[in-house]
Amino acid sequence: MNGKGLKNRRALFVALALVVLGGAAAVSCYLGMVPQAKAQESTTTSSMILMDTVVDVRVDGPRSASLVERVFARMEELERVFSRFIEESEVSEINRRAGEWVEVSPLTLELVELGIEMGRITEGAFDITIGAVLDLWGFGSDFHRVPTEEELADALATVDYTRVEVDGERGAVRIPQGTVLDLGGIAKGFIIHQATAILREAQVDRSMVNAGGDISVVGRRPDGRPWRVGVQDPEDPRSIRYVLPLDDQSVVTSGDYQRYFVVDGVRYHHIIDPFTGYPARGLRSVTIVGDNPAVCDAISTAVFVLGWERGRALVESLPGVEAIIISETGAWISPGLAQAMLTQ
Ligand code: ADP
Ligand code: MG
Repeated sequence: MNGKGLKNRRALFVALALVVLGGAAAVSCYLGMVPQAKAQESTTTSSMILMDTVVDVRVDGPRSASLVERVFARMEELERVFSRFIEESEVSEINRRAGEWVEVSPLTLELVELGIEMGRITEGAFDITIGAVLDLWGFGSDFHRVPTEEELADALATVDYTRVEVDGERGAVRIPQGTVLDLGGIAKGFIIHQATAILREAQVDRSMVNAGGDISVVGRRPDGRPWRVGVQDPEDPRSIRYVLPLDDQSVVTSGDYQRYFVVDGVRYHHIIDPFTGYPARGLRSVTIVGDNPAVCDAISTAVFVLGWERGRALVESLPGVEAIIISETGAWISPGLAQAMLTQ
């Protein structure tokens, strides 16, 4: 959702990214065992560049080809609504008309409300009004640079999710003048959630939507076991460090190795601490597993900002949310996930 400039690195990242282990092989044997009505059972897989990453969709079940098409069309449509880098988007309009009420579609309203809620839950570590700070660093453009303290202080003064107003009756949103709304930390998860909802509603046998490693699945593998998803090693993103079982769930990862630039040997990445204006320090990657990929997306960004202790506390406070937190010196796997990994 953010920026055009880092596409090459992103594409490389995707090429090396999370591999989904196991999968398609069992479809044919499965076919042999199901009743006639399901004889047209099919698997369709397809890829497209969307949200500045490669998105892979796999659907198993009747009408899988047309469902895959529908899902891509929907994701494309939603990106055009939520991206602040697309001029005609609703988010661009909210930003252009900062200070005024702007009528938006119900889904934008829902996403902004969820963003505010995530701000509340994370006590401001996740903040959808971080846009002006991101712009200073040049994330979203080709021109990265390290801003001055003064510039950062000015931009930080515009960051406060509690000042985003939502009028549910009118379907309108208002942000303060000078504030820049950025849904890049949650929109991708929200979009794969919408895509997955279409597939769930169509009662597919199983599906997987994989947006550059942020994944949401329906059901289980053809052999009846959970999907298996690899988590990259932040030290060496070409290799897989953990394999997670995914059972009708979602997984989202935030890392400092995905989008960044280097000045004088210092790496500056795109997850910003809203309290300092600087890229959050301390962690290398945060992987969140849960039911709702939009929530996972926001929480992964927030835990990255909160760091080892407070990030862990946040995960432990949220029922149904599991995590792997990797720092420079160690890793923490939430007990529920550790258990699931052992028994997969
Ligand atoms: P990715 O987009 O690579 O999957 P994340 O989900 O961690 O990674 O999202 C990072 C994006 O979130 C940034 O590009 C930016 O748009 C936005 N962002 C950065 N810092 C914050 C923050 N503290 N709160 C909310 N959004 C943020
Ligand atoms: Mg995120």
